[in-house]
Amino acid sequence: MKTIDWSKVPNATVTTDSSQSSYSQSDPYCWWSYNLCVTPKVDYIPPDIYICPQPGTWGLTYDDGPLYYWPSTPENEVWAEPNLYDFLLNHNNQKANLMYIGSNIMGAPDAAQRGLNDGHVICSHTWSHPSMTQLTNAEVVAEFYYSLRMTKEVLGITPRCWRPPYGDVDDRVRAIAWQMGMRTVMWDLDTNDWNIPGDQSPGGTLPYSEANATVAGWMENREKGNDTTTGHVTLEHELSNSTIALAEFWLPTIQKLYQTMPATSCNNIAQPYWEDAFVYPIQGTVAVGVDGAPTGLKINGTTNSTNSTSTTTGANPSGTDSSSTRQSGAGHVAALETSIFGLVAAVVAYILI
Ligand SMILES: [Zn+2]
Repeated sequence: MKTIDWSKVPNATVTTDSSQSSYSQSDPYCWWSYNLCVTPKVDYIPPDIYICPQPGTWGLTYDDGPLYYWPSTPENEVWAEPNLYDFLLNHNNQKANLMYIGSNIMGAPDAAQRGLNDGHVICSHTWSHPSMTQLTNAEVVAEFYYSLRMTKEVLGITPRCWRPPYGDVDDRVRAIAWQMGMRTVMWDLDTNDWNIPGDQSPGGTLPYSEANATVAGWMENREKGNDTTTGHVTLEHELSNSTIALAEFWLPTIQKLYQTMPATSCNNIAQPYWEDAFVYPIQGTVAVGVDGAPTGLKINGTTNSTNSTSTTTGANPSGTDSSSTRQSGAGHVAALETSIFGLVAAVVAYILI
């Protein structure tokens, strides 16, 4: 709390479920939940990432992971990680943004390490997935802090990006996130997969067929040559069997029609972590943390490609494993910041210069 310059944090009212009716129509705090605002009105905060600027590019993001089940059964465990990570690996070694919930990293640290070691770009998705504008300043800081702390402990990295749960962000929350070192990443295309009934509580009410039709419409539009203004960032989830099935069903088609990559990559963010010397490992090796200790062990992922639900029938063309294109690197980085307190302080100092 002391390392944040509160004079630079807008004094927006902590919202409630009913706040929209009393909120000023001028949208003084760029509240996304009110009108999808992605351009902050505070001058030192950069615009949210929400599209890929170049036409024909597609930013992949998967929220709410790493996916694990509690209680776990043989039936639902099939869908837990590394199911999606195996699928991405086997489909052109596809990279994506993984928006990790801090408490889920704690629940499935080996899956989180697999996600990083596969070369995906990790962003924070808070500690416990609340509506952030409904939290006090101290609560917002705590959600970010514990998420960052868990990410650092398990993965050895400190993300420069975060995604608001439910997209619920305003300039007060953005300002705190930015001072804690993170830029806000939104989306322009919502698959609504989060609202599909799944085997992971609480589930939703949207029929799978409707979410499927939404994505099909995007693909048809592209095939007709209409989608040429900008690229996109999609909202998808590693949340349940249903969302994993939808993601895996459409990925090969998206790859055919677009140049696919993490949303941060199509926005030219080459260094997604504060540990500037972090290097992704060569495939099959372990990542090396900033203090020289391994951050995680490679999971010998068995490919769970038995997508036998009716919704994915015929949806799995054989992928090509182009592991030779995997980013190479020494897999070793110099000792850097080990204290997140020091890191945040450094970030704040940097921002305020
Ligand atoms: Zn989420």
